[in-house]
Amino acid sequence: MKNNYCFWFVTGSQNLYGPSVLEEVHNNSKAIVEHFNNNMQSEYKIICKDTVKTKEEIYKLAKEANYDESCAGIITWMHTFSPSKMWINGLKELNKPVLHLHTQFNKEIPWDKIDMNFMNTNQSAHGDREHGFIHTRMHTGRKVVVGYYENPSVLKEIGKWLRVAVAASLSKHIKVARFGDNMRSVAVTEGDKVEAEIKFGWSVDYFGLGDLVAYVDGVDEDSINKLFKEYQEKYIISKETLDDSEKVDSIRYQLRLEIGIQSFLDEKGYSCYTNTFEDLHGLDQLPGLASQSLMSKGYGFGPEGDWKVAAMTRIMKIMSSNQGTSLMEDYTYHLEDGNETILGAHMLEICPTLAKEKPTIEVHPLGIGGKNPPARMVFDSKTGPAVCASLVDMGGRFRLIILDVEAIELPHKMPNLPVARVLWTPKPNLEVAAKAWIYAGGAHHTVFSYNVDADDLIDFAKMMDIEYIHINENTNIYALEKELMFNDLLWKLK
Ligand code: MN
Repeated sequence: MKNNYCFWFVTGSQNLYGPSVLEEVHNNSKAIVEHFNNNMQSEYKIICKDTVKTKEEIYKLAKEANYDESCAGIITWMHTFSPSKMWINGLKELNKPVLHLHTQFNKEIPWDKIDMNFMNTNQSAHGDREHGFIHTRMHTGRKVVVGYYENPSVLKEIGKWLRVAVAASLSKHIKVARFGDNMRSVAVTEGDKVEAEIKFGWSVDYFGLGDLVAYVDGVDEDSINKLFKEYQEKYIISKETLDDSEKVDSIRYQLRLEIGIQSFLDEKGYSCYTNTFEDLHGLDQLPGLASQSLMSKGYGFGPEGDWKVAAMTRIMKIMSSNQGTSLMEDYTYHLEDGNETILGAHMLEICPTLAKEKPTIEVHPLGIGGKNPPARMVFDSKTGPAVCASLVDMGGRFRLIILDVEAIELPHKMPNLPVARVLWTPKPNLEVAAKAWIYAGGAHHTVFSYNVDADDLIDFAKMMDIEYIHINENTNIYALEKELMFNDLLWKLK
């Protein structure tokens, strides 16, 4: 999942200050960028651009940023005062995400030395307010980060935004292959694919199962043998399973599916796919282990033809560098008084990046779809704070619903449920969270992640200019219902 994206650090000023102040400004900017590159622990490099001082320079910079495919976004900072009318033409042109950093080169006021020269050089407190005004006036959807540039919290917030901006850049290259259509009669997995390409840049294409079957049937035995060996190292396969030739054949068939689907996707440039148990013509099993493995490699996946969740899985895997992120489904509830929890799983396809320990590969009947018993990975998931996200089509617009949750230990073994699973308590509690989720129209399919949080997803929603709803510790149902009502009006006007 490596890429070559970088970010530009742009300091704004004006010629009024004269060359020596501008030189000091530029040196300070270089020092800040150096600090970021050395301490942010981000895989993305920040490049310090020349200080911009005129309308023409800002416009030129915006054009260059737009044209440069490797530039995933711009960080702006007004060390001194940069009159914002100079920024209008450039900001109108700019089509890259912007983070406005509101910081200061000096941490503390130098009480005994401070004079008017110092005051003239260190003016972010009002320079950045001028800059903020023009973004607000122009509705740029930028992110504001506030704090001393060496603060670890500032570095963390910027670092998180960088990966969201990269996901936004890569979004326009996402292609989803749909093997078969959506599950019949299901509403929430549907959506406007044209609007998805306009908003997110996603191409969502249909393929008949026969196109995929040709790839699956063409996989050679040697490739399957090699992958089988790899999986014996990587995962647990019990002796009992290995001694059962039918079960081994079932695993081998999933490896055939994995290699076949991957070759199809790679050859045609797709990073996401969907399938449905209702349309498996020419396949012997529903891809289970195959889809889990492909997700663990970073591919986006959506079951029952859910292309929105496939693309969002991919987006959140980019944001998380493919750590702790999977397709998820709200499956069943535990409604014990005061201890209400949600059991998340799917028929088979949960990504092993969630796993607490080495997953076990097992073969069991599915009880749906009428195909052979499929091999799948079985595991319990890690505990800790996480997020569930659901993208729904409201008719005329997309809404991203984000829920904060806490994943917890499974209190009991579940010997008769051989699937990967997670148990969580939603914020603020199941009653409010489920009510809010249902009022907001959230789906049963979500993307679950330990490594992406609500702030990341809100930043993404702003970059994509879509509606978002965040259900969290402070959610109040009456306020949420009003928010939904006002949003309906707002997005009709937009
Ligand atoms: Mn499902």
